[in-house]
Amino acid sequence: MGRNLFGGWQSTSGHSVHEPKREGYDVAQVCMNGHMVNPASQASPEHNKSYCDTCGKKTITACQSCNTPIRGLFWGTYSASEPAPPNHCHQCGQPFPWTEAKQKAALELFAELLDLEQEQRDELARDLEAIAVDQPRTQVAALRLKRLIGKVGKEAAGMVRDIIVGIASDVAVKAIYPNQK
Ligand SMILES: [Zn+2]
Ligand SMILES: [Zn+2]
Repeated sequence: MGRNLFGGWQSTSGHSVHEPKREGYDVAQVCMNGHMVNPASQASPEHNKSYCDTCGKKTITACQSCNTPIRGLFWGTYSASEPAPPNHCHQCGQPFPWTEAKQKAALELFAELLDLEQEQRDELARDLEAIAVDQPRTQVAALRLKRLIGKVGKEAAGMVRDIIVGIASDVAVKAIYPNQK
């Protein structure tokens, strides 16, 4: 006889579905522009990339100031949903490169649209930082920005809004755009 119907393959009973048993945060891999490349770089290293396939920038998995891993997917009691890259390091509070890049882009956009003087630019830079995290100055900074946004033309309003929503905290977004969700 000697027929070997299955080519000698014998499936073993144990299949290797790696269900993460851990609890807590996985480490996120994020590109310098803030694209979430892999929210679970520890549990699913096969999805890791050295460079972002969206924009081509280098990726990082830790804060560049203090080397703390960037928080990614949370393995826990509630179902894991893909998190957005954090704006600031939870350990040292430094803004991540993408946060600084977005604030800089917002600053340049306003400076271009409104022909701002240096003094106004400095104030705007502080306000953009203040709306990123909820703090005592957030509301007043948001109000000042709202006034500034009122001065940009209609065609730039959508662009400004996208940038602001990308860097502002929920509280600040509500203060600046109270009638929108
Ligand atoms: Zn990218
Ligand atoms: Zn840090």
